Amino acid sequence: MMLSRGRNFLHTPGPTNIPDRVLRAMAQPAVDFSTPEFLEMLRSIYVDLKRVFRTESGDVIIYASNGHGAWEAALVNALSPGDHVLVPGAGHFSINWAEMAEAFGIVVETLPGDCRHGIDPKAVAAHLQADTDHRIKAVLTVHIDTATSLLCDLPAIRKAIDDAGHPALFMVDTVAALGTVDFRMDDWGVDIAVGGSQKGLMQPPGLAFNAVSQKALDASDKATLPRLYWDWKRRQDEAYYKWFCGTPPEHLLFALREGLDMVFEEGLENAFVRHARLAEAVRRCIGVWARGNCISLNAVNPREAANSVTTILVDGGHDIEKFRLTCRDRFNVSIATGLGQSRGKAFRIGHMGFVNEPMIIGALAAVEASLGICGIPHEKGGVTAASEYLATA
Ligand SMILES: *Cc1c(COP(=O)(O)O)cnc(C)c1O
Repeated sequence: MMLSRGRNFLHTPGPTNIPDRVLRAMAQPAVDFSTPEFLEMLRSIYVDLKRVFRTESGDVIIYASNGHGAWEAALVNALSPGDHVLVPGAGHFSINWAEMAEAFGIVVETLPGDCRHGIDPKAVAAHLQADTDHRIKAVLTVHIDTATSLLCDLPAIRKAIDDAGHPALFMVDTVAALGTVDFRMDDWGVDIAVGGSQKGLMQPPGLAFNAVSQKALDASDKATLPRLYWDWKRRQDEAYYKWFCGTPPEHLLFALREGLDMVFEEGLENAFVRHARLAEAVRRCIGVWARGNCISLNAVNPREAANSVTTILVDGGHDIEKFRLTCRDRFNVSIATGLGQSRGKAFRIGHMGFVNEPMIIGALAAVEASLGICGIPHEKGGVTAASEYLATA
């Protein structure tokens, strides 16, 4: 095999590209974590994470874990065995979070839905209204489901809960959305927000978050699922060695400090605009490919299309794995295949975090070339449409 030179383009929807600055921030010795300097840095991270989640009244807990760990943390702190939860989303990540809840003896209620349309807030309101004895203790929603690439209208879900006059906690997985699209914990009445480091926040995998409202903290006082390592309250102790229930993941925290600096240098709003532009470029490109009558955007309604990742359906039984490996091994571009319902029938392009125009155009060009090599029908010129859009937007 030929030795390859140049960068690999990472366009999987997690992990995502890590800026050199963030990598360099980790290249330092371990430190005594009781020093004033380290504690000062830690405190500043909590303050800035609250700004990212847009919460003043809530609190943020940081775990040395991936997103699945923070999912579990959200469940075990807030719920008790036998509690019901409503999981209205049909995407793979909604289903996986629901399966995790079931493993803890929680009863999952779902709504009918498909993987190409977002959640219907009216159906959520109606379901909650019917729950007159308030057995449902939480509504679990995924902000951007990384399998379907659908964006959930969180304020509409909040309104649905309010319209039903239902006291359920509003739990949101914003792992694949945080830092890429608007998220407002306080304004949208989110009680528990689950985030991760390695998607929109340009971090190595390994840190995950629970942002928690006072209502969620109060619920945790009564919640009886066994917990110790994940326990929010233990980690809110005055004693700093309890903040991580043991040794803090120092190097990941050095990285996070640097990454948060980068987030605020750009400005959250500017990052949202950048993600919207790049995502639209991807969609314009797919719009051209789609004229070959084989490829289509998974999101049926354009306003539900996520800005951090795009799921592209491929009809006709083409070998998606061969196509993915062509992108990766011939063109050094990593994309992902379909998950859940669209496994074997879709591919996904991640465009979140540390990405810019040439990275997107380069990735799309490699994908277009690979479509050709693999004989997947498409109209040529998608990349041109993307760059033309970027030239004017
Ligand atoms: C990636 C992801 C997760 C899981 O995160 P891991 O770090 O892989 O455990 C959960 N939810 C969403 C929406 C994700 O994109």
